[in-house]
Amino acid sequence: MARAPEQKRTVLIFHGIGTPGRALEPGEERFWISRAAFCDILDRIAAMGADAPEITFDDGNASDAQIALPELEKRGLRAVFFLLSGRIGKAGSLSQADVRSLAEAGHTIGLHGAAHRDWRGLDAAGRQAELRDARHSLAELAGAPVTLAAAPFGLYDRGVSAALAEEGFAALYTSDRGQARNTRFLRPRNCIEAGMSEPVLTNALTGHVPLARRPRRLLGLTRKRLLPARRAA
Ligand SMILES: [Zn+2]
Repeated sequence: MARAPEQKRTVLIFHGIGTPGRALEPGEERFWISRAAFCDILDRIAAMGADAPEITFDDGNASDAQIALPELEKRGLRAVFFLLSGRIGKAGSLSQADVRSLAEAGHTIGLHGAAHRDWRGLDAAGRQAELRDARHSLAELAGAPVTLAAAPFGLYDRGVSAALAEEGFAALYTSDRGQARNTRFLRPRNCIEAGMSEPVLTNALTGHVPLARRPRRLLGLTRKRLLPARRAA
């Protein structure tokens, strides 16, 4: 059977839209954007045609269902929602019914873990809770297998990649910027943040990494992909 040709695509990450309904984690404010900013970005994506980036959401905030779902529908756009099993049903986060609505509307449910913790150095119990149990409960709600994962805080190493591959995941979505290739396990994403200037937003939408940032990005990628995994504590 012929293999699908390699394609490059930009992938975006959104987090929260509008007003948070829960206490934010330290430093999280910048990942929340206004509804107007979100709608403007979706309009731009919808106008990009074949070059439109893939859309993803992390953390399972209630705004995924209250704001993103209807706005995506209006524009005929699809997204991947990386959810935390431990937050479902809590104030400010998606309810079980919300997760079902997202899946029924044709969106993909992915794994972001259980408790929003660093996946590096997970011991056997952590791996069971964060990767297996969380995946199982999300798949039950979605009514579909969960095959994509996004590491909390964009933190991963060779051990995280290996564990996800062993668990049978098809891809690990990261926060490394640039473009993703459909044939690779690691899929870098470009984060949408509050107050991005026009050139910075354009770079995110096109997966362009400015020349000045490339050496640091490359060093970071090399560390994460090649260094040995952290030992479980
Ligand atoms: Zn997260």
